[in-house]
Amino acid sequence: MAKGRAFHHDPEYRAKLSAALKGRPKTAEHREKIRAALVGRTFSDETRARMKAAAKGRGKGRKLSPQHRANIAAGKRGQPRPDMTGELNTKWDGGVAPTRFAGWRKSIRLAVISRDQVCRDCGKWDARPRCMHVHHADFDETNHDLVNIVLLCVTCHRARHSSN
Ligand SMILES: [Zn+2]
Ligand SMILES: [Zn+2]
Repeated sequence: MAKGRAFHHDPEYRAKLSAALKGRPKTAEHREKIRAALVGRTFSDETRARMKAAAKGRGKGRKLSPQHRANIAAGKRGQPRPDMTGELNTKWDGGVAPTRFAGWRKSIRLAVISRDQVCRDCGKWDARPRCMHVHHADFDETNHDLVNIVLLCVTCHRARHSSN
């Protein structure tokens, strides 16, 4: 071991260092620096054992209970899909998820349906649930002015968004 590195093993220095680094996210650059610094260094058996134990504590080789696995799976299922965000997803249901769309009221949807009655683009009406959508003509999902909201069928609604 080179003499210049000796201070790295001073217990006080190490404690300060680890305290300073604690909780700080390691950037890719940082990780690369660490990796570069470690390359070519040899570790004693004792050090290797300590590193192995530390890695274990970070979740490597950790055995999860079935309940824990289920929780993780449920959490992942609940995450929004990037291709299903915004109006393409829940907004089409209008008042179903009112908290996600500021100012939205089921009454707005009902008002638009009673005013337009059919799809503004193709004239179709489909009474099945979720088949008629209310669409913000200017694509501003917070502009609930009735002149900005039009009734569309699923197909035409999709077309309006894909042509944009
Ligand atoms: Zn239509
Ligand atoms: Zn829309």
